[in-house]
Amino acid sequence: MDDLEQADQDDKILADVATFMHDKGVTLKCSMCDQTEAGWAVYAPYPYTPTIPFGNKKGTLVIGDVVPTLSARCRNCGFIRMFDMEVFEEWRANRDAA
Ligand SMILES: [Zn+2]
Repeated sequence: MDDLEQADQDDKILADVATFMHDKGVTLKCSMCDQTEAGWAVYAPYPYTPTIPFGNKKGTLVIGDVVPTLSARCRNCGFIRMFDMEVFEEWRANRDAA
């Protein structure tokens, strides 16, 4: 994939994220700083999706066992919020099937 194709894909994902947030009623207001004007920077979910690693009961990480997320950072205070990628992917699949 060249840079132009990557930019097109990034734009499409950002548009999908914006529609997803709207459809789910997610507020643009940051829960930490109450900002709405600064906006959110979305961490590109592909090809390397931000993830939460799972641990086992002894506290060591289970290799490869993670929760992929759709993550965004408040452009004002840097607060990072994460949504389970499975919910986003499910929303995309249902939208595309309609
Ligand atoms: Zn904030």
